[in-house]
Amino acid sequence: MDSEQTKKYHFKAEIKKLLDILVHSLYTSREIFVRELISNSSDALDKVRFQITKGTYVIDKELPLEIRIKLDEKNNIITISDTGIGMSHDELIENIGTIAKSGSEEFLKQLAQNKTDANNIIGKFGVGFYSVFMAAKEVRIKSKSYLKDEPAVMWISDGLGDYEISKIDKELKRGTSIEIHLKEDAKEFSEKYRIQSVIKKYSNFITFPIYLDDEVVNSVSAIWREPKNNIKKEQYSEFYKFLTYDSEEPADIIHNSVDAPIQFYSLLFIPKKNDEFWKYNREDYGLDLYVRRVLIQHKNKELLPEYLSFVKGVVDSEDLPLNISRETLQENAIFSKIAKNVVSQILGYLQKKAKDNPEQYAEFWKEHGKIFKWGYGDFANHDKYTELLRFNSSKNENENGLTSLEEYEGRLKEGQKEIYFATGTTRSSIDGSPHVEVFKNKGLEVLYLTDPVDEFVLSTLRKYKDFEFKSVDSVDASTLERFKDEVESKNELNEISKEDEKHFNSLLARMKIILGDRVKEVKESKRLVNSPSVLVTGEDGGMSAQLQKILKMTNKDMADLPKILEINKNHTLIRNLIQIFKIDSKDSYIENVVEQLYESALLLEGSLDDPHKLVNRLSKMMEDSSGWYLNMKK
Ligand code: ADP
Repeated sequence: MDSEQTKKYHFKAEIKKLLDILVHSLYTSREIFVRELISNSSDALDKVRFQITKGTYVIDKELPLEIRIKLDEKNNIITISDTGIGMSHDELIENIGTIAKSGSEEFLKQLAQNKTDANNIIGKFGVGFYSVFMAAKEVRIKSKSYLKDEPAVMWISDGLGDYEISKIDKELKRGTSIEIHLKEDAKEFSEKYRIQSVIKKYSNFITFPIYLDDEVVNSVSAIWREPKNNIKKEQYSEFYKFLTYDSEEPADIIHNSVDAPIQFYSLLFIPKKNDEFWKYNREDYGLDLYVRRVLIQHKNKELLPEYLSFVKGVVDSEDLPLNISRETLQENAIFSKIAKNVVSQILGYLQKKAKDNPEQYAEFWKEHGKIFKWGYGDFANHDKYTELLRFNSSKNENENGLTSLEEYEGRLKEGQKEIYFATGTTRSSIDGSPHVEVFKNKGLEVLYLTDPVDEFVLSTLRKYKDFEFKSVDSVDASTLERFKDEVESKNELNEISKEDEKHFNSLLARMKIILGDRVKEVKESKRLVNSPSVLVTGEDGGMSAQLQKILKMTNKDMADLPKILEINKNHTLIRNLIQIFKIDSKDSYIENVVEQLYESALLLEGSLDDPHKLVNRLSKMMEDSSGWYLNMKK
């Protein structure tokens, strides 16, 4: 070996950990090291091409941009070389000596967090260079940087704990070659058919030619530039899998070639499953941006608003300058037009899907709706966005049903000028709430919002067409009176007598004294049927209880706005209270019931801070009533 000085280094702890997992617990997935090394080579080639197009001085400029794989079956060696950007001595230490943020770190975090079997998740991550040690007993990297006067360097390691770096001969051309001495049980990777099938599986769409013993084995073509009719479904899904590491087929394929006013190609996919779970970093999304087949940027985020971040794919422009810098992209008018067009392609596609195939759209919504909803701030696409929204509603049979605002509009009652919604944690908690009771009785549809973001969405949109969104707890009684009951109320109580009516009014005053400033008012309810009482926001159209709760979470000091307690005089409990009140208006039983009603209402809307008093009072009341019950039984 013609090394000058050789220096020994130790792996950092994090790398040791990664190596340990890769080497000791992964067998079935170890072929992916080929994918990882080819992908690194491809990135290195993209980088050097980017420098060349920018006009940077690059050594060995005439070298073709390619990846070459040599197999030495006799000695169990596979060598993967590229003519990419290469690495200098310091870069080699820096890049290969630390875990890059992209794949491997997330992989480790996921493993630690989810205690998943590494084999199950490894395919979803770019675990990077170190995966080579799943198959290698020794690895030699030789690299020569594209920069002038950087000496060629060699890195050697057995992946156990140390590595060595030395400067090597100056004859080496630009790029990197990785010589892998295979473990005994990994011999298969020096066999041509084996490597060929791995490349076909994972690396077929690498845009640089991959030579396997002097024969090109990948497709090289840019599939997105080909006419749709020439592409088979399998080709699309192969490309999708290559791009995303997903093992499933894509749910949707949106392939377009746009000619005017700007020319570009786009090939977009919507995955079947949302991959949020796998994603550490919400920032990890975007479309790959090419200019005339040259990759300018992986995962460009400006092409895709965050609420469409579930979309994967590539965009290839004819009109952008090749030497455009990533920093100035955003200010480029052509680029903005492309981005705008991409968004309308996606929204247009979804609209069509919602119309033509509502079941499939429902599938889409279940997977990606949670992210999609965050698009409420995209005012430029306001109409399309609102058209695509879905909610569960009182008219749906169960929690799986979806309602669009258009469908709601079609079911409006005569004279209904508002779209009603109620919030809660589950459909059943909303469906059984006293607030919703009256709406159901009158056949008025209520949107059931179970995702906290739903209410932000509606309060930002404010209305759909001319119909304002209104929380059920802020609708006033006079509005409701305009609609006839559809369901006969099953009230078996007699009409209240004139005298009792008076006592009822005094009882309401007594209740207000008991609750003090905690409520704005205690009054007779015109909306309740089966419940004794309900807390409402009042007629000033205030925030719903849910929204207040969210605001309170962000601002602890925010006081609860006092509400109105409405009392149902046609409820047996209240009728009995009136009788007790008549006997002794100061009876402590009344006090207990009022406190209990009030705190139960808070509990239902999720704003009871301390449930202890409620529970203790309840226990006490049960204790009392068990005695009465027993007496009655005797
Ligand atoms: P990742 O590719 O996810 O960044 P890796 O561990 O695979 O992580 O690689 C770490 C870094 O080493 C890369 O980001 C790159 O800078 C450098 N590198 C790896 N392979 C090559 C190569 N063939 N040519 C040039 N640089 C490379």
